Amino acid sequence: MLVRFWGVRGSTPTPQSENLRYGGNTSCVEVRINGHIYVFDCGTGFRNLGKQLAQETNGNPISAHIFLSHFHWDHIQGIPFFAPLYGDRKRSFIFHASNHTRGLQRAIEEQMSDPYFPVKMNEMAARRQFYNIDEQRIELEHCVVHSMWLNHPQGCLGFRIETKDKVLVYATDNEPGDPVFDKKVRKLAEGADVLIYDAQYLPEEYKARKQGWGHSHWREAINVVMESGAKELILFHHDPDHTDDCIDAVVTQAREHYPKVRAASEGMEILL
Ligand SMILES: [Zn+2]
Ligand SMILES: [Zn+2]
Repeated sequence: MLVRFWGVRGSTPTPQSENLRYGGNTSCVEVRINGHIYVFDCGTGFRNLGKQLAQETNGNPISAHIFLSHFHWDHIQGIPFFAPLYGDRKRSFIFHASNHTRGLQRAIEEQMSDPYFPVKMNEMAARRQFYNIDEQRIELEHCVVHSMWLNHPQGCLGFRIETKDKVLVYATDNEPGDPVFDKKVRKLAEGADVLIYDAQYLPEEYKARKQGWGHSHWREAINVVMESGAKELILFHHDPDHTDDCIDAVVTQAREHYPKVRAASEGMEILL
């Protein structure tokens, strides 16, 4: 299993020099398992993944399973700019997500509707399928994906990707403090080889003014990794106002509590 980070920022892209070492693109993580492509979230990092896939396949077929945790902008904004969707019928994308109010397909298509974007999604030539999911087990070609609700305004799904011998957990946009969800996220992360977890805020920022905003902080990320028995922690969904120096300081502090922790950065790869 190869994990590649294309976007690691939360909330909004931050193309400013003091953030670029970790990266300014919003959430997008690619997972390859035996040549099959699985994508978790389509923030602005999804655009660069599209360029890479177009180059790599050079006109040959592409197919990928795309999981959306939820529909906030920082998780969908790359979709209109993902070149392979404009390709042809040899390209096929299967979207998995949950939307109770509009339905999945409509929720995705509406961000490209008049007057928000000049091209409608039905003008994209690639084949698209949409699967409304809930909390469930999804059996795919070379892995099983478990989805579980997290604590976030308007809902957000976390994902556990299991192969024969490895487990990756992608759990972003989750606020601590609700006993039911606190238990769920630890269950989702149980024994994982790698846990990618929401660490948007500093603990002091969270306590002072960010409660109820649907995000976590690095100290809680440490609690989750230790209490779930996951092995390695990747801090993810960095706050737009957190510079590279700020994230460096977070990692240094976090390592005093748990040694196997890193902050996600654009271009980072993990081979499991
Ligand atoms: Zn987000
Ligand atoms: Zn969100």
